[in-house]
Amino acid sequence: MATNIQAIRGMHDVLPEQTPLWQYAEGIIKEVLASYGYSEIRLPIVEKTELFKRSIGEVTDIVEKEMYTFEDRNGDSLTLRPEGTAGCLRACLEHGLLHHQTHRLWYYGPMYRHERPQKGRYRQFIQLGVETYGMSGPDIDAELILLMHRLWKRLGIRDKVSLQLNSLGTIAERIAYREVLVAYFQRHKDILDEDSQRRLHTNPLRILDSKNPEMKDVIANAPELMAYLGADSLAHFKAIATTLEDLGVAYEINTRLVRGLDYYSLTVFEWVTDELGSQGTVCAGGRYDGLIEQLGGKPNHAVGFAMGMERLLALLELRNDIPVAKPVDAYMVRVGEKAEREGLRFAETIRNEIPGLKLQISAEGGSFKSQFKKADKMGAEFAIILGDDEAEQGEVSIKCLRKGLEQQTMPQNQAISFLQQQLQECQ
Ligand code: ATP
Ligand code: MG
Repeated sequence: MATNIQAIRGMHDVLPEQTPLWQYAEGIIKEVLASYGYSEIRLPIVEKTELFKRSIGEVTDIVEKEMYTFEDRNGDSLTLRPEGTAGCLRACLEHGLLHHQTHRLWYYGPMYRHERPQKGRYRQFIQLGVETYGMSGPDIDAELILLMHRLWKRLGIRDKVSLQLNSLGTIAERIAYREVLVAYFQRHKDILDEDSQRRLHTNPLRILDSKNPEMKDVIANAPELMAYLGADSLAHFKAIATTLEDLGVAYEINTRLVRGLDYYSLTVFEWVTDELGSQGTVCAGGRYDGLIEQLGGKPNHAVGFAMGMERLLALLELRNDIPVAKPVDAYMVRVGEKAEREGLRFAETIRNEIPGLKLQISAEGGSFKSQFKKADKMGAEFAIILGDDEAEQGEVSIKCLRKGLEQQTMPQNQAISFLQQQLQECQ
């Protein structure tokens, strides 16, 4: 016998019993984004490898070890997108969207990173990405945080996440800081792991981001970038902090929060949780004005964030009270040859008249008893019943499966208004 083929390690199916929770989250996410006037952009999953090398940078975990890169039949090097920021910016530059314009955009879809799979860390995972272009003031940075804050509240998990905030200042400020930081780590070189020793010369800020427990103390005692920020950078940071305070959004300043890439500037933030073990960052974002020039555009402004949907779903699963829609409202039981034919036709009429009704028909034959069992298993509110007698008379019987109403037989045209009325009462 042939062996079954299995999914690729770290790439998961979302089964029908899980999709309602995804759809619940996706529905609320879209509503919240729309309430701030954000538009969806849809982007390819594959891009030229060069795009990620140039944007994410060669000396990063992603580019060094995590990308799914392959040569296509033309010999071009392509990569399954490990994140969405680069592709989104590429698209906007390519289509001239950044010329004297502002944009508030979002995208949603799978990303690919060849990491060691574990809870909350997969090789294919879904991200919601939100990117804004053309706005330099702190209001837009704050808006992104407020949007997420609203999302947590709408999803009922506000108490499960907290906000960490930092500022990376300007490139010049970071260069000054970098020297101090390198000197500090040089003095503690023997404690640094291999990755960090290498990054000491290529990307020293990224050492602050290391998750190696043996380096925890040396990182905690490192000099802080905040102390090297100039007046403008501090004012930008202060304005965001004041907005958050005015609107009652709690935050914690985390001076270790960095993005080790040169194009980041000023604001960085993360929404973190301690309910998911070590995969605790649910959403990460910041300002990346410099990336636009790095990808060949004119100087401009950009702020955005990305949220990992699997981590969000794991938080939602901690709630046991989420109202998820059932796949079926009504189930049609058909027994007998004439009833099967007549039932199929009547089901189409019902769908014409009540487009919102989720109606499934029995299609496996079987006795009344077995079909009723199926109706119950599907969680239907109503069974719409046709035997040959009903079919002969142009009638139908309706039974409420959840309420203690008697089964009623009526002409088919009356059944439609009866169902409409019952459905309204259910809502
Ligand atoms: P981490 O520190 O957890 O590796 P990261 O800095 O690599 O995260 P980002 O590139 O900032 O993550 O991606 C934004 C969000 O996407 C993360 O906060 C997380 O929620 C999610 N994410 C990133 N990598 C994965 C993954 N391999 N599996 C599931 N979710 C992920
Ligand atoms: Mg990572």
